[in-house]
Amino acid sequence: FNINLMNLLSGRIRKSEEERIRGYAREKKQVVALDTLSRQATHDPLTGLFNRRYLDQILYGEIAHAMHSDSMVGILMVDVDHFKQINDKYGHKAGDLMLQKLGELMKNCVRAADIVCRYGGEEFVIVMPGVSEKTVGECAEEIRSRFEKLCVLYQNQDIHATISLGVAIYPLHGSSVDEVFVNADRAMYQAKQKGRNQIMICSTKC
Ligand code: GH3
Ligand code: MG
Ligand code: MG
Repeated sequence: FNINLMNLLSGRIRKSEEERIRGYAREKKQVVALDTLSRQATHDPLTGLFNRRYLDQILYGEIAHAMHSDSMVGILMVDVDHFKQINDKYGHKAGDLMLQKLGELMKNCVRAADIVCRYGGEEFVIVMPGVSEKTVGECAEEIRSRFEKLCVLYQNQDIHATISLGVAIYPLHGSSVDEVFVNADRAMYQAKQKGRNQIMICSTKC
């Protein structure tokens, strides 16, 4: 009788142990799924950079922080030159690879605190909190010149491209997020108009 009772008890203990382990596994899966979801909400799948939605979420906070701490925030607008021609000549996959390489390059050029974001298509925005005018300009120029030299190998073909960059700085070129952003965009279009493959720092006129 005692042996039967012991078998019954140990069987129940084993069962509840198994249930506990299954519960852990379920919880772990849910945590992983949540991580994936939250990453998808803030990151661009092609480049792994932050997405526009994330940028919209943090930009106002960054500017508010700069206002209170009396510091500056650099906004860099980056657009690939004649990107449509790259797609037309080498294919969409080659274009995708180029965007990934540009993303890596930009991340390697900025500081850890800077936010590199794929704004859409072949346009990127870099937010640089707590910078000087000099640092922003130097960083923009370094990205431009490194990308100009970059050679992307795709199916035995060497592909080259260039970028145009517009730079605006809070509070020098605007007293709100929207103003600085519009001015960075304007500066980028001026860089395009002036012949592309160049940086344009917003002037008070822009
Ligand atoms: P510009 O120098 O004036 O910027 O010329 P552009 O050709 O770069 O500009 P346009 O706006 O005419 O073309 C942008 C192209 O970017 C068109 C679109 O097909 C391509 N594009 C947008 N998103 C992606 C993407 O995720 N992958 C690839 N391969 N191409 C993309
Ligand atoms: Mg373009
Ligand atoms: Mg564009």
